[in-house]
Amino acid sequence: MKKVRVRYAPSPTGLLHIGNARSALFNYLFARHYGGDFIIRIEDTDIERNVEGGEASQLDNLRWLGIDWDESPDKGGPFGPYRQLERLELYQKYAHDLLDKGLAYKDFREDATDYAIRFKVPEKETFHFQDLVRGDVKFESKDVEDWIILKDNGIPTYNFAVVIDDHLMEITHVLRGEEHVTNTPKQLMVYDAFGWDKPLFGHMAIIVNEEKKKLSKRDENIIQFISEYRDLGYLPDAMFNFISLLGWSPTGNEEILSPQEIIEQFDPSRLSKAPAMFDKDKLTYVNSRYLKNLGIDELAQMSRPFLESNNIPILNEEWLHQLLRLFQERMSYVGEIVTLYQAFIHESLTLSQEGLAFLVENKSTLVLETFKNQLQKAPFNRENIELAIRQTGQEAQVKGKPLFMGLRIATTGDMHGPSLPDLLVLLGETLVHSRLDQTLKQLRGAL
Ligand code: GLU
Repeated sequence: MKKVRVRYAPSPTGLLHIGNARSALFNYLFARHYGGDFIIRIEDTDIERNVEGGEASQLDNLRWLGIDWDESPDKGGPFGPYRQLERLELYQKYAHDLLDKGLAYKDFREDATDYAIRFKVPEKETFHFQDLVRGDVKFESKDVEDWIILKDNGIPTYNFAVVIDDHLMEITHVLRGEEHVTNTPKQLMVYDAFGWDKPLFGHMAIIVNEEKKKLSKRDENIIQFISEYRDLGYLPDAMFNFISLLGWSPTGNEEILSPQEIIEQFDPSRLSKAPAMFDKDKLTYVNSRYLKNLGIDELAQMSRPFLESNNIPILNEEWLHQLLRLFQERMSYVGEIVTLYQAFIHESLTLSQEGLAFLVENKSTLVLETFKNQLQKAPFNRENIELAIRQTGQEAQVKGKPLFMGLRIATTGDMHGPSLPDLLVLLGETLVHSRLDQTLKQLRGAL
């Protein structure tokens, strides 16, 4: 068998979208599974749509996902150049070859000396191909009109350039989105016109939203650009894992898989024909699974920028570790530490009506005073706070909710939340005491 060579061929018209990332990833997985080459080719012939920095940001986000490649504009390689605008002479030469063979013709616009070159679509022919995902696909030539392969400005159209490149770059398999199925007959005609071997084609099912509509870049309910996930603190391996499940399924039941495991299992026979649903809850789940497995040092390093840019004071490394230990289980992306901090460790204390009513009903003054005294007996740390809570219970003769919820409301303002001793350590001794005083004052006023 010929060495597998596949490519991801983005147009540098914007940021790396989830759909493009899936195309890149599946080609990468296919190449690595079969020990082949993975090539990145930039299809930049639609000049008006190209955006400055589009190519660099695509490559940068692919790298972040953990995808690497063997040939590309930035790496070079034996089949370059890898940007279509740098290959114009090649397309022009091949378009003229077809003219010479009588398989294409000149198309002059009115009064012009420049001409476009149009492909002469053979009459009454049926084009077949065996799609790796969809099986036998058939098109009639009568449904395709003569189409332009080279515009009068010397720039090729996509359907022509893609064939010249795939042939010259010795691409063996073309894996791309379903929206390209209807382009395939035009491409097959060009292979036939030159008498070239064709690659195998596989068209991946579309990605749909939860309403089963094709994911559109305008769909505001779903974050769709890889850079946005990156900015929120999603983990690259988790994104790699989640995207791999958009139209492919692993051999076993386990869906949480490392890049290496996915490469080992990746096999085009497991690509799905049915639309792939972008399930936001699943992404949250997958990412939080990866977050739970992060070491505390790594999580701390990733969290720092989020906290700092939100002006959250990090007292010291130990404090940061305590904060993260408390919330690691609840986080679904790293940036969420900011919201969690703000929800539970807020500087100011506001008692809700409900909270105050609870304290009044349970006559909590004694409990709070006792707790304050107990706290002062020993250094302010987790163990001693736990001890102080227990001793408060004994001394004031309370237990259960009136004890635990009462202390929580008085010190945090919240009825529920994560482990109280952990939370109090993070708040710090001074703040906890001033909050207890504040609550006691309010309580005396309310009685
Ligand atoms: N430039 C095309 C796109 O971005 C590539 C399609 C293909 O893989 O042939 O959709």
